[in-house]
Amino acid sequence: MAHAYLISTNNSEQCYKVLLNVIKNIFCVNEFSFNCNKCSLCHLIDINNLPSLKVISPDGSFIKKEQIMELKKIFSKESQYTKESIYIIKEAEKMNKESANTMLKFLEEPEGNVIGFFITNNEDNVLLTIKSRCQTLKVNFSNNEYEDLNINEEKYNEYLDLIKEYLYKIEVEKKDLILYNKEYLVNFEKADLIIIFKMILNIYKQKLENKILNNNNNNNFAFLNILDINNLKNKVNLLIETIQKTSYNINMELLLDDFVLEVEALNETL
Ligand SMILES: [Zn+2]
Repeated sequence: MAHAYLISTNNSEQCYKVLLNVIKNIFCVNEFSFNCNKCSLCHLIDINNLPSLKVISPDGSFIKKEQIMELKKIFSKESQYTKESIYIIKEAEKMNKESANTMLKFLEEPEGNVIGFFITNNEDNVLLTIKSRCQTLKVNFSNNEYEDLNINEEKYNEYLDLIKEYLYKIEVEKKDLILYNKEYLVNFEKADLIIIFKMILNIYKQKLENKILNNNNNNNFAFLNILDINNLKNKVNLLIETIQKTSYNINMELLLDDFVLEVEALNETL
């Protein structure tokens, strides 16, 4: 891990939520329980009260020198709670020269295990003195999935309807899964099947993200809400593998059948 990361994103709030969750999984005392959300450390992060995690937002139009000095003072002592101390600077493009200069020494010689995350939706306006000392990560949240997939909206919606029926059959009705492949997918060209599988992957990823963030507002594909985090994680991995296998010279019908059999096996271990 580097000392400092600049996260350049198109959705700062979403990015902050995901980052907090990553940090929870770094700090959490229940090493083997992904997204525990129950232990004292997870709880302290939830109520924004963990001494070794500091979040700084602009005070007015800027992030001010005093805010950074305060941070340095707090982090000058070794953390009593966690191995690492972490700070997050929201709207990093709003650091002015004074606060950035105050930050520099801290960035160059952090005391102890200090990790910083600078979030910005305007990377060009982040002062170079900060940027040059951070490792940059790009995290973009997409708005138009069909553009990413290189298809038009009409085709996208058509596939979405088909996927909804197909997933309902394999996840809820669960009779002869191979028969559903014949009914819904087998007649598509390989290129279209790859698009359909990418869409299915995104659906499971979204469900997984909502479960992790405890966000119950999204009721798309509500019938998938019965799946727990582990099941969703396994399905995401299965979908990634399935999509990778399409680049080999492989019989698509066999690939589809393997896919549903794996889905069946994963649901049996519930
Ligand atoms: Zn925890």
